[in-house]
Amino acid sequence: MDKFVVAIDGPAGSGKSSISEIVSKKLGFTRINTGAMYRAIAVVATRKGIKLDDESEYDFLDDISVIYDNGLTKVNGVVISDEELKGASLAASKCSKLKRVRDKMLIFQRNSAIGKVLMDGRDIGTVVFPDADLKIYLDASAEERAKRRYLEIKGTPNELPYDVILKEINERDYQDMHREIAPLKKADDAVLIDTTSMTIDMVVNKIVELINEKMR
Ligand code: C5P
Repeated sequence: MDKFVVAIDGPAGSGKSSISEIVSKKLGFTRINTGAMYRAIAVVATRKGIKLDDESEYDFLDDISVIYDNGLTKVNGVVISDEELKGASLAASKCSKLKRVRDKMLIFQRNSAIGKVLMDGRDIGTVVFPDADLKIYLDASAEERAKRRYLEIKGTPNELPYDVILKEINERDYQDMHREIAPLKKADDAVLIDTTSMTIDMVVNKIVELINEKMR
């Protein structure tokens, strides 16, 4: 099969990133992390000191190219560090509301789907690839997602109290689900996987099984 698109959507902390990474490596798919692309825009906007929610300040989008290439997020060919990307969660959620930003990202994301692709984000199955070969919606309770994040960064310089993480997750969920353009929601034909009480391995195996079935 020359072309096959898997869309994985879901809220912050649902496990999309780690699971997409493992599944794409296992099956030889190219992974496109669209969250990292929105984060890259947020990093550039923050560096420029613009008002993140003011569309008229985004003229820089006219001269920008954003790609996700083999785990690296590049703006005009220059890699944005993981540290900067990680720090841009809420900023990305703010700038991703804007039509101007989303229109631009849509072009980059559609252009990057060459061959067998696994693309993860919020609107891949609903907007970017409504005809994807397989759509998956990963979910988990907000408390479980906050717990995972808490354990992930515990003991690192970025450590944060559980309550702060839970608040940020709820805030991002709200922003992502209630925006006017391409809000986060499950596509009608997506397979829902609630990962609340599943291990990473269980979720990976389930998705690999679904892909193999569809490709048969
Ligand atoms: O997936 P990640 O947490 O890295 O995404 C960061 C932010 O980018 C999300 O909170 C969301 O606002 C935005 N995003 C989006 N559409 C996508 C992927 C991410 O709006 N397809």
